[in-house]
Amino acid sequence: MGNYAEIDPRWALVEDGFIVAREHEVESLFAVGNGATGTRGSLEEGSDLSAPATFLAGIFFHPESAGAIPELLTFPNWTAMQVRLNGSMLTMKAGEVLEHRRVLDLKHAILNREWRQSDPNGRITRFRSLRLASLADRRLLLQQVFLTAENYCLSLEIESSIELGPGIHIQFPPDWEDTTRAGAVSPLPLALLLPDGKIAAEFCIASQVLPTEGHRVERRVEMIERRLVESFRIQAGAGAQCEFRRFVSVFRIRGDHNGPRASDHVRTAGTAGISSAVSAHKTAWQARWESADVQVDGDEVLQRALRFAVYHLISAANPEDGHVSIGARALTGHSYKGHVFWDTEIYMLPFFIATHPASARALLEYRYYTLPAAREKARRAGYLGAMYAWESADTGEEVTPEVAITPMGEIIPIRNGEMEVHITADIAYGIWRYWEATGDDSYLLNFGAEIVFEAARFWASRGSMEADGLYHIRHVIGPDEYHEDVDDNAFTNLMAAWNLRHAARIAHLLETRWGNRWLQLADRLHLTHSEVSLWPELASAMATNFNAENLLFEQFTGYFNKEPVDLKQLEPRSAAVDVILGPKRVQESNILKQPDVLMAVYLLWDEFSPEVREANFLYYEPKTAHGSSLGPSIHALLAARLGKMELAQRYLKQSAEIDLANNMGNAAGGVHAAAIGGLWQAAVFGFGGLQGCSDAVKLSPNLLSHWRRLSFPLQWRNHHLRLSVEHDSVQVKAAGPDPIQVQLVNGPALSAHPDRSYIAVREQNGWGNWRET
Ligand code: BGC
Repeated sequence: MGNYAEIDPRWALVEDGFIVAREHEVESLFAVGNGATGTRGSLEEGSDLSAPATFLAGIFFHPESAGAIPELLTFPNWTAMQVRLNGSMLTMKAGEVLEHRRVLDLKHAILNREWRQSDPNGRITRFRSLRLASLADRRLLLQQVFLTAENYCLSLEIESSIELGPGIHIQFPPDWEDTTRAGAVSPLPLALLLPDGKIAAEFCIASQVLPTEGHRVERRVEMIERRLVESFRIQAGAGAQCEFRRFVSVFRIRGDHNGPRASDHVRTAGTAGISSAVSAHKTAWQARWESADVQVDGDEVLQRALRFAVYHLISAANPEDGHVSIGARALTGHSYKGHVFWDTEIYMLPFFIATHPASARALLEYRYYTLPAAREKARRAGYLGAMYAWESADTGEEVTPEVAITPMGEIIPIRNGEMEVHITADIAYGIWRYWEATGDDSYLLNFGAEIVFEAARFWASRGSMEADGLYHIRHVIGPDEYHEDVDDNAFTNLMAAWNLRHAARIAHLLETRWGNRWLQLADRLHLTHSEVSLWPELASAMATNFNAENLLFEQFTGYFNKEPVDLKQLEPRSAAVDVILGPKRVQESNILKQPDVLMAVYLLWDEFSPEVREANFLYYEPKTAHGSSLGPSIHALLAARLGKMELAQRYLKQSAEIDLANNMGNAAGGVHAAAIGGLWQAAVFGFGGLQGCSDAVKLSPNLLSHWRRLSFPLQWRNHHLRLSVEHDSVQVKAAGPDPIQVQLVNGPALSAHPDRSYIAVREQNGWGNWRET
């Protein structure tokens, strides 16, 4: 870890001391991950309140009891380690803590810990550890611990154990032999077995105590009840230091397994050595930061929050695996059981599209592999096409719980799985945005188009043309989950209309540009021209509850008659509004859980006039209670775009503090992956003012007054750009095969040539012309 004085607060989370009550939250925030695995930042030796967990993306435990919901399986705690000095355990509770600090190094994605403990006999031990989930090799996890006996003759035992629980079984291959040579890498090959006996993952743990002069080390491996225990007994002189290393290889197994084995992999990694693994990991992170780092000059706290967000987003996605997506708390905690929501396409995907398209593509492939389940869900509910699960796990089947228990102990039904249907349009929207920004035709042709068509089919069957000549979609839940079973939710209907129109647009595009592919797909899906031509007609007839007089969308039919409740009267609030007022009263009121109409204003920005955007923001913003972590970032973004900078600043702060100040009180369950994706969007799309990229990169920046500069990289088609915004200027640097169009909103356009830099300066009456620098 080196010298603490060198820690740059803009690149690190630091936790000094040990406050047991904060521990679960710290474990979430300090998690390390690489999209394939995620490990909470728990103490190696544990504590009264430790909840260590490692999750493997896409591996769910399916309980057998009726109505039980699948959840991410908790993988054995590979970082656990107990140190014994003459039989007594080294813990912070026994003796005196002389120093304790944990540092999550965001730049290198390494969790460091430094601890000095004086035990009840006055023996002082220094414990330094690091751990990482390699980004260079997603199968590799690493831990390194240095132990120093400061004032006694080192004589200690290091013990690590693997608890065999549901689904965790040891599977030693027939040729396995425990060489029990201290100092050598001696892998323990293990496997995760599903209830049907199939192997879900193979993993292998290789621990090693490095022999240094004068050390005596003995290693022992034994089964004690359901625990596989590996221990090292070390003896050395006073002041001696010993180094313990652990390499873990995890191989996710799908189908027949004839590929490379975890034990070979771990041996190779062990032979190559820890510094080579650490440096490959750092290099991989450096590359990701180059294409993702958002820099804010003039606001150190926000700078760190943005890096925290980017760190956890990069840690959550796996571009190498299209069969998994990102759950609401990524791989950092148990909340929401690892389930995938609209959070991924609407809140996180834009970050990946702009910084690492391969990750974005993998996330959207997940929606293709789960299309059969979405078709089946539509069929069972009596609809056509594909109806995506509100919450999904490994197969794409609906896994939303059917009931919940309120804080008052009441059992209430959860209807989101049946009614929160907007997710189907949100997925189609994410696909289009991905294709538009990347030009990845192969994704569109082989995966995306089919999803968007099947989604359009769903919408064409989910609603009905009624006597008023409008297409109505009834019995839904919009993003504002405080109001259930409503008719014509404006967000749902606007997004459904968008989906129907874009499905027809894609059909036309395929037919004109990729005729053969169109014929194949149309044949396989039994798509006819008359079906396709119905889609834009339904979109045009969609009931959107728009009032041309006051320019407002009514959130759903009857919303304007709901009881007005002034949220200010409930301040300061100690709990969410639905807890204070009760779900029934909230349902009867006009209070929103999170942006709903405003979500449509944001996502479909170009479809509305400035007056419509403004009118709806002014109307809905004060009624939104932010009972969800998904709200503040969108309000920050919109307020920035609408030039309401004071409000924008307040919401940005609220959004940045969701995890870092635990301002919703539930960070213990994992970081809020949608909220951090939203924070990134607020910075880049709100304050940076980047707008939908179709034929040009459009920019309309709005900085906070105390910022000096906001700068961010962006990938668009095969161009890499860095945009730097100051109060009175915008700079662009582009790299790519050909010029790229950059358009300042209400300002001049630029054709930016590769490897050149340009600047436009604000003048008295607007933007001056671009010039090369
Ligand atoms: C929000 C949803 C969100 C879910 C998972 C809920 O509280 O209302 O919009 O998808 O949490 O993050």
